[in-house]
Amino acid sequence: MKLTEKYFKQKFTEYNALYFNSELQMCKFGLQDSYRQLGSFSYRVNRWERKKIPYKTIYISRKYDFSEEDFRDVLVHEMIHYYLAHKFFFVDAGDAHGKPFVEMMNEMKARHNLNIRITHDQYALRLSDSGTRRGRFLCTLF
Ligand SMILES: [Zn+2]
Repeated sequence: MKLTEKYFKQKFTEYNALYFNSELQMCKFGLQDSYRQLGSFSYRVNRWERKKIPYKTIYISRKYDFSEEDFRDVLVHEMIHYYLAHKFFFVDAGDAHGKPFVEMMNEMKARHNLNIRITHDQYALRLSDSGTRRGRFLCTLF
């Protein structure tokens, strides 16, 4: 599956409606060259003043040939970070997958039959060039 901006926007809009009550504004899309990180989310808020700074980007690794389902799980994972930042000014790079994230992730999984994960241990994905790779995949916030 080719990761284009058009595809990203289409899926973002679809999942925003399905899972986030269309509460998220469209964000920027970026590609990253990483085997270890399937996705990442970049956002700035000023927590003390509870002020949002209009800069938000979801990055997806272009090293993998994602199936539609895998892409959904990676994108929704990043959208949970976005939602938490947007609603609660929660951007804690030290513990990005702490309690608020896990609670929301588990609720989504139960309600929507998603397979969102924090790490992807022993998880086979197709590389975009060829072959498969197994390893431990992470998401980061920065
Ligand atoms: Zn994450």
